[in-house]
Amino acid sequence: MSYVHYSTNYVNAFWDGTRMTYGDGNATYNPLTSLDIGGHEVTHGLTNFTANLVYSYQSGALNESFSDIFGTAIENYASPATFDWLIGEDIGAAFRSHSNPNAYGDPDCYLGTNWYTGTGDNGGVHTNSGVQNYWFYLLSVGGIGTNDLGNNYNVSAIGINNAAAIAYRNLTVYLSQNSQYADARFYAIQAATDLFGPCSPEVIATTNAWYAVGVGSAQAGTAASISTSGATTFCEGGNVTLTANAIAGTTYQWNRNGSPIAGATNSTYVAGQVAVTLAVLLLAVLLLHQTQHQ
Ligand SMILES: [Zn+2]
Repeated sequence: MSYVHYSTNYVNAFWDGTRMTYGDGNATYNPLTSLDIGGHEVTHGLTNFTANLVYSYQSGALNESFSDIFGTAIENYASPATFDWLIGEDIGAAFRSHSNPNAYGDPDCYLGTNWYTGTGDNGGVHTNSGVQNYWFYLLSVGGIGTNDLGNNYNVSAIGINNAAAIAYRNLTVYLSQNSQYADARFYAIQAATDLFGPCSPEVIATTNAWYAVGVGSAQAGTAASISTSGATTFCEGGNVTLTANAIAGTTYQWNRNGSPIAGATNSTYVAGQVAVTLAVLLLAVLLLHQTQHQ
């Protein structure tokens, strides 16, 4: 439910836990009923009934950011001809930006320039939201640059609809009340994996967009698989050659139960039966550890 014409000269809109309320603005600002602001407020309702992110500090910044993300995604869906990456432009003046949070005094990098550490605004929920806001922009349209931490990034575009689908699944399936930026990264990657498959371009872009905004490591972006040559069932004493398939420039370390096997650093590994003892095959517990040259 939405209420309009709230109060007088009221330049705000809000979700109160039950309904949305919109002011008429003032001499400078038009009524706060634009697509992005309406989408922003109704997303607070969605968040309330899903992750229910606590409205303070990092969880509050994520709460605000999801509202900006879906406000922007809704604007893109409903009015592609006039769509932009600003928040609030249709009421007279924008007050936040996905594409350039710094332009409005917000950070585009975790702990970077403009990152707010005070107690005002519930711990900077409308400021530190800039980090995930910029993540969403980079994931949608791609980008190359150097962030405030001095890290060079290169994010491939996956489009705003795919980016929104990942954010939506993250918010509604995985995140919870006290989730922090590290959780938002971890579960965004999980959400992308669910939707698009392991090591898909979407997963790689999601990971690299978080790296771009200062959260977590980059992902090189090579899918790896293991193939076998020779029979995989054989008499005691037999073996099978495992081959890891990845692009050139990859180094290898074969692991057993998560621990490196000494000397097993080629793309192929010959796995055999444990001598004399139980007929347990090593190959069942071999995993490929892939290290990409950056
Ligand atoms: Zn809000």
